[in-house]
Amino acid sequence: MESLHFPAAQGHAVVHTAVKRFGNGKVMARKLAPQRTMVSVLTALLLTCPALSLAATEQGEAASPVATNGQPFPWDKMRLPETVAPLHYYLLIHPNLTSLDFTGIVQIQLEVLQDTQFIVLHSKDLRISKVALLEHGGAQPLQVLEYPAFQQVALLSDDVTFTKGRQYTVHMEFAANLSESFHGFYKSTYRTREGEVRVVASTQFEPTSARAAFPCFDEPAFKANFSIRIRREARHIALSNMPKLKTVRLADDLLEDHFDMSVKMSTYLVAFIVSDFLSISKNSQHGVKISVYAVPEKINQAEFALDAAVRLLDFYDDYFDIPYPLPKQDLAAIPDFQSGAMENWGLTTYRESALLFDPNKSSASDKLGITMIIAHELAHQWFGNLVTMQWWNDLWLNEGFAKFMEFVSVNITNPELQVEDYFLGKCFEAMEVDALSSSHPVSTAVENPAQIQEMFDDVSYEKGACILNMLRDYLTPEAFKTGIVRYLRRYSYQNTVNAHLWDSLTNICQSDVLDEGRLKGDGYCSQRKSHSAASKWFEEDELDVRAIMDTWTLQEGFPLITVEVRGREVRLSQERYLKSEDPTQASGFLWQVPLTYITSHSSTVHRFLLKTKTDVLYLPEEVEWIKFNVDMSGYYIVHYEGQGWDALINLLLHNHTALSSNDRASLINNIFQLVSVGKVPLDKALDLSLYLSRETEIMPVTQGLSELVPLYKLMEKRDMEDLENQLKSYIVTLFQDLIDRQSWTDDGTVSQRMLRSYLLMFACVRGYQPCVTTATELFHKWKESDGNMSLPNDVSLAVFAVGARTTEGWDFLFEKYRHSLYTSVKSRIKSALSISPLSHKLKWMMEQSLAGEVMKTQDLPSVVIYVSKNPKGYKHAWDFLRAKWETLVKKFDLGSHSISRMVIGVTNQYSTREMLEEVQGFFSSLQEETGSGLRCIQQALESIEENIRWTDKNLPLIQAWLDRHGPQRQSPGQAGV
Ligand SMILES: [Zn+2]
Repeated sequence: MESLHFPAAQGHAVVHTAVKRFGNGKVMARKLAPQRTMVSVLTALLLTCPALSLAATEQGEAASPVATNGQPFPWDKMRLPETVAPLHYYLLIHPNLTSLDFTGIVQIQLEVLQDTQFIVLHSKDLRISKVALLEHGGAQPLQVLEYPAFQQVALLSDDVTFTKGRQYTVHMEFAANLSESFHGFYKSTYRTREGEVRVVASTQFEPTSARAAFPCFDEPAFKANFSIRIRREARHIALSNMPKLKTVRLADDLLEDHFDMSVKMSTYLVAFIVSDFLSISKNSQHGVKISVYAVPEKINQAEFALDAAVRLLDFYDDYFDIPYPLPKQDLAAIPDFQSGAMENWGLTTYRESALLFDPNKSSASDKLGITMIIAHELAHQWFGNLVTMQWWNDLWLNEGFAKFMEFVSVNITNPELQVEDYFLGKCFEAMEVDALSSSHPVSTAVENPAQIQEMFDDVSYEKGACILNMLRDYLTPEAFKTGIVRYLRRYSYQNTVNAHLWDSLTNICQSDVLDEGRLKGDGYCSQRKSHSAASKWFEEDELDVRAIMDTWTLQEGFPLITVEVRGREVRLSQERYLKSEDPTQASGFLWQVPLTYITSHSSTVHRFLLKTKTDVLYLPEEVEWIKFNVDMSGYYIVHYEGQGWDALINLLLHNHTALSSNDRASLINNIFQLVSVGKVPLDKALDLSLYLSRETEIMPVTQGLSELVPLYKLMEKRDMEDLENQLKSYIVTLFQDLIDRQSWTDDGTVSQRMLRSYLLMFACVRGYQPCVTTATELFHKWKESDGNMSLPNDVSLAVFAVGARTTEGWDFLFEKYRHSLYTSVKSRIKSALSISPLSHKLKWMMEQSLAGEVMKTQDLPSVVIYVSKNPKGYKHAWDFLRAKWETLVKKFDLGSHSISRMVIGVTNQYSTREMLEEVQGFFSSLQEETGSGLRCIQQALESIEENIRWTDKNLPLIQAWLDRHGPQRQSPGQAGV
């Protein structure tokens, strides 16, 4: 699964749940009456209370669980017993897109691993109407007991013992409503140009919602084959993981599509869609049929994704040296989608904005974002689908890898996108949450669905990717690739834990049977002896990948490396980097850190594995400066004691291109991080920022802005307008030359275009007059043409933002938003609308997004976060979050990334004790089932405490520094917005 992380418009989200209601009693009673065993089910349905089941899911064990019919439930753990394993599911699904419900039949062929009296599997909110054991051509009824607290059912009969070594087939019939949420088998709708509302039924199962579509063993290690059939009307099509074998005509004008049997896979990867989508297709070089599906009016925006998918699937086929095992890969754009995309095997699903592209309407960042997200989902076809984590505690084995592979693959398939430049941004994002004491190790024990949802966070994705990148840099790319290919081959169609990966990456050149012939082909091992510097690490007896990597996956946080140069001696020490008042929480941490460095005398990357708390290395000669963590390829930050920072600041001020742009960006990040923990005075970090007036590269510029902008964002939420405006003027002046040099076009490389979009947006929102003047002119022309004049896409965000400042402009933009078929245009307009100073419009937008009529509910989290960053909106965003909390939790699900993004996004710019108390007061009023235990609440509170400490200490320093260095007090025309 992948959240949205487009550099320009920070959309972001993940799957969620809604509370499903048990269907209407009348229909059920009629259906259930003939079956005697159903009496218990009926009672179960009437007695089930969703609130109770939520509360109970907080514990992994139930004392003596009672089924909904009052009988004892035979299993008391949240994880399923290991007595039986599914082998093959025969699944028939029949959705009705008019009555918005579905019925189904599943026959599960099972293997019994230990004698047992009962079979326990998952089922959530399904009305199960008939359960039988199929044998000797007949069917023996089984009783079904339900335990909603654990989303489990038990199948049993007094007459049956399931015997070890034997196979059985159980038959279950069930019905449910299409979900109103974004997961399970859910309803999505879209409006045609003529205004007709059409329904699509689609699935999102990861992590724990397959059980809401059919009864199943819904844990990733229970892999099985799936043979799926779908009933539909002739006006629709059906899609599933595998290609369609045939279509059978039934009575009542219904059609039944039979799909080919799947490969062995986990339940969370099953997918089916019934829709009126159209498609376009191409064959990959390896003979896989690739298709992109979208609603009919948008199919002409599918070509870019199709070409990207063909290129990327061919790349992975070659890179992993394991053929993609299915005959087809469909990519479908779903009108309502909570996260960015989902890797269902053979049928990946996407938010429309993550897949659809129009060369005349989409921006450079859309191009980058869409390519990356397809790269992510296709990487999962191997990492995640072919080889799957044993349990959700190691989700990072799926997500860290897919995130990491985005960069590896797109770097090769689309070199013009220069994706490697952006990788370090992922590490900065991860470090932000990983610097708090509420962070968690990459591998963390989880059990209930809310905890599992919480794993889909920056630690699993971004930190996972960063530590893999660090390991690759350390082992060399060739050795790393050899190791991961070995891992994929060894564990195909199986499940893994961390140790399997580390073992596969150890002793790279000792081939086993699976590697036979291939390692030689790569030539890596035969050349290895001549590889002096790169393979240095393999010559060392003590190279222990697992020992190194356990320090990165089993403990939370990351190290701060302090470097002190004395003559030729470099003294090193490590400690946990922690933004907390409580230093005891930093003790006891030790990492094995693969350090890299360059010096004023040598641009060759030198390496040193720091395993102890302190160590010393010796340089061949004295140097003017030393820079550690070259290109920020390691997951740690560096402090330079003594004259170390002064030397680097001096270098930046006088010859900044002596360092790579990633090194410059990492110095900017690190020095501001060090201010937060009191290692460096703010003055020094601001001194470093002065060099930015000559910076032109995207990563250092955006990193500089992302350190400086939050400082005045804190001030906007306090009463200190003078200082706020003084700081804004300083920042605008710093980048003024670069802003003035931007053309109002779509010319240039992708990174130039993204930089332009970012800078003009910043300048216009800050009220920089030349920018506002041009944008205003363009907006008026565009408006006069009734939106028909084509604006350069990369600058249109700035133009819309200026236009949205008046009521008339805002209303015009909203009309264009409503009727546009281009998701890219829509998302730019939406961003512009939400940074408008018209406070009543901001409130209205949040309400409309929640209602889901004129704005999609899927976009609510990003709207709320935008509004919370808006000086005219942040109070409304906080009020909205509090007032709608219970609705939001129901809509977006406890533990989901959407909820945590909103909690953190809305609160992380508060810096007063009053607000801390208010935020604390609200969250402490929650119950367990409404989220009192969520990690994001701890993160939010810690962030506010950190802001309070920071501002207490540093506000006077900013004032004094700006008085010394800044431009004169605010000049006219630069009033802050
Ligand atoms: Zn993913």
